[in-house]
Amino acid sequence: MVLTAPTVGATDMETRLTLAEILDHLTAEGALYERAADGRLRCHACAHQCLIGAGRRGICKVRFERDGALRVPWGYVGALQCDPVEKKPFFHALPGTDALTFGMLGCDMHCAYCQNWIVSQTLRDTHAGAPPMRVTPKELVALAKAQGARFVVSSYNEPLITAEWAVAVFKEAKAQGLLTGFVSNGNATRAVLEYIRPWTDCYKIDLKTMSDRSYRQLGTTLEHVLEGVRMVHELGFWLEIVTLVVPGFNDSDAELHDAAQFIASISPDIPWHVTAFHKDYKMTENDDTTAADLLRAVEFGRAAGLRYIYAGNLPGCVGPWEDTRCPTCQRTLIRRYGYVILDYQITPAGACPDCGTHIPGIWPPGGRADVRLGETLFDLFRRVPRPVSRLRSDVVS
Ligand code: SF4
Repeated sequence: MVLTAPTVGATDMETRLTLAEILDHLTAEGALYERAADGRLRCHACAHQCLIGAGRRGICKVRFERDGALRVPWGYVGALQCDPVEKKPFFHALPGTDALTFGMLGCDMHCAYCQNWIVSQTLRDTHAGAPPMRVTPKELVALAKAQGARFVVSSYNEPLITAEWAVAVFKEAKAQGLLTGFVSNGNATRAVLEYIRPWTDCYKIDLKTMSDRSYRQLGTTLEHVLEGVRMVHELGFWLEIVTLVVPGFNDSDAELHDAAQFIASISPDIPWHVTAFHKDYKMTENDDTTAADLLRAVEFGRAAGLRYIYAGNLPGCVGPWEDTRCPTCQRTLIRRYGYVILDYQITPAGACPDCGTHIPGIWPPGGRADVRLGETLFDLFRRVPRPVSRLRSDVVS
């Protein structure tokens, strides 16, 4: 892919650069690496922990060695939207609010069904790639405030591989009173999680399969992701887990049972979202997921003792499984339809109003009065992702 990049390269002549050259320019020295005894650089931003020689790239393609240092993505976004926080999905963090969500380019995995492959598979798939838009952390946070967002979230591609940039943005966001989050594949190291933790509140992990063989097809190992889940919980991020149920790939009774049992073994209070696959990218043979498939997954969650199970992205088709119920008295505490909050009953102290059971999460201090409720068809259409394009005029495009 060749892009016209009038602002990259500090030249007064329009320069034709490849996307790789543009991205290599939009970098800074990383923090998450060390020099090995043989002079190569060991990156710790994800569990691959690539050993990178002179002039070489890591598996993600966007972190690379130059002049003895590890260069990492900096100063741009590859995608930008203001999304309902329920789209991340975070169901236990300020329901009904919005999250300014930025994506970068590249990924440390190569899932055949990736819905964001245009950005995630940049520099790996010649058909992928999006023009980077230059931006500063202050500008991103100003956009979040202008949009009325309560969160700034790194998503769409794998945020671990751009952790240094995310921290720069999140420091600014925290200073402005916003919450922050990662939407991640969980292929993490302790080093990267400890690095982002002071600036990151919420963390969503895709638990894509319980088969090591399948995980290797996607580009990592099962144990790396399970350890990522353990560490994210141990370090005190607000954690929610998603399993995209893909017929014929990860939907066997054994895998769904194992996923639910694993999550429950960490904590039965971790919300588990089971969501519906649709054909995308290179995975076009598998059937789309039905509501019945999701409800079968829900039963494994219930049998494992999980307290907060959600069947996602088939609004109105999964009975009560879009809602949050009190695990003690079963009172419905949050009623949802898709991204719309229909009712909210959790107390300002974060408890069930009937029996007083503590409901884990980050709740609005004003309780119901602080939650934007919807009830009409108009609300359904209003509460959708909104593209955000008001970046600086020197957008690289
Ligand atoms: S982020 Fe992961 S894939 Fe990229 S260079 Fe670092 S260890 Fe390798």
